[in-house]
Amino acid sequence: MRILLVEDDAMIGEAIQGALKNASYAADWVKNGQTALTTLECQHYDLVLLDLGLPGKDGLEVLTTIRAKGNSVPLLIITARDDLNDRLRGLDGGADD
Ligand SMILES: [Mg+2]
Repeated sequence: MRILLVEDDAMIGEAIQGALKNASYAADWVKNGQTALTTLECQHYDLVLLDLGLPGKDGLEVLTTIRAKGNSVPLLIITARDDLNDRLRGLDGGADD
């Protein structure tokens, strides 16, 4: 399974990528939304792990752009934002969880 991790925080990104690799997943890590969109146009992934707080394009903007392009890759939002409205915006935007 090939996973794209979109996370701008170095410590969190290293921890998640390390854990995924230890579990034998192939995980690519990008640190901003624009790079995530470009990468998804060029390569196939089985899962995207998407942070919301990203420099430049916010995670929700990245999510809606991915879905607007017809890309239905399974996508999980990983974020410290746990407000109900944030959760609903993510799900309404096309996140799987
Ligand atoms: Mg962040």
